[in-house]
Amino acid sequence: MTEAMVEAPSKPIQMVDVIGQYRRYQDEIDSAVLEVVKSGKYINGPYVQAFEREMAEYLGVRHAIACASGTDALQLALMAIDLQPGDEVITTPFTFAATTETIALLHGKPVYVDIEPATFNLDVEQIESKITPRTRAILPVHLFGQPANMTRISEIARKHHLIVIEDAAQAVGATWEGKKVCGIGDMAAISFYPSKNLGAFGDAGMVTTNDDKLAHAIRTIANHGSERAYYHDRLGVNSRLDAIQAAILSVKLPYLDEWNANRSRAAATYSELFEDYSELVQTPFLDPRATSIWHQYSIILSTGREQVAQHLREVGIPHGIYYPIPLHLQRAYADGSRGDFPTTEYAADHILSLPMHSELISEEIEYIVSHVLEGLGV
Ligand SMILES: *Cc1c(COP(=O)(O)O)cnc(C)c1O
Repeated sequence: MTEAMVEAPSKPIQMVDVIGQYRRYQDEIDSAVLEVVKSGKYINGPYVQAFEREMAEYLGVRHAIACASGTDALQLALMAIDLQPGDEVITTPFTFAATTETIALLHGKPVYVDIEPATFNLDVEQIESKITPRTRAILPVHLFGQPANMTRISEIARKHHLIVIEDAAQAVGATWEGKKVCGIGDMAAISFYPSKNLGAFGDAGMVTTNDDKLAHAIRTIANHGSERAYYHDRLGVNSRLDAIQAAILSVKLPYLDEWNANRSRAAATYSELFEDYSELVQTPFLDPRATSIWHQYSIILSTGREQVAQHLREVGIPHGIYYPIPLHLQRAYADGSRGDFPTTEYAADHILSLPMHSELISEEIEYIVSHVLEGLGV
């Protein structure tokens, strides 16, 4: 396939098309926003409660507690189990920093296990060797939209009396063995950051749980540790959801499955077009027990990533490297050295994420693939 065979699309390709999606639903979104503005109920209140109910129903969980961001959702979950200084949380070094940041903020200790090369999710078979008397929780990340192996994680957690907190920031609507994520672990954290598959028009997040006690704790902590105004029974934070964001998300939620299906189709198209080049391009592997919402479509290039990135820049095709520096090597949490997690480090050095969103069309994907191959000298 060469450039000459695939024509450039008529409009610029977006990594994530937030404006394109807004335009499609503009009337509905505009009137929802205006309604909130006119209501005077700007924080929590009826719009937030309605969205919480809709999410709980969509995910099949008992409790959905809205908060200010996905990062806050992780922190609220860790505060709800009363994480103590020195308590250990087992997680992956190949994720967005928020996962580790919240553990460290509470003076807990992130304990990493390496990832599986095929799914980029934490390698469940390495978890047990990292469990100590200080281990409190396992925090798997459903990376790029694909659930981690929740069957094995739940088994290990039960055996060692550990809490499971799912970082589902990238995976709303994904399933593991037929069950939606967010309702599998003890708690889950969701992000509605604008580039996530269910994106607000600002920061927004949510914690889900099937446990009534944890739900009560999360709600209290998110509201200054207060159950009754001006009585503060525990240490809390201010992490509430703006009603405008809730109203926007309520408009969007009914379309989420359709968008996730579009992303899935786009991923299949990419993989089909790369099929004949498997010695050059490793396409994403989807575990047969999982469905992914394809937060990212990430390929591994054993050689030539820099040339491909350079070529894509030249022709104006957006792309990303998630994540270039694993968390054990980040200065803020640097407690590791190169070589500690070889699979993670290999992924960081060779991964490349291509445009992925619900509005992406085949014509654009063909163009992107042709230029990846051209960058590789095919
Ligand atoms: C986006 C994200 C977060 C943080 O969510 P925010 O809403 O941006 O605070 C946490 N973990 C992962 C894996 C994410 O992708």
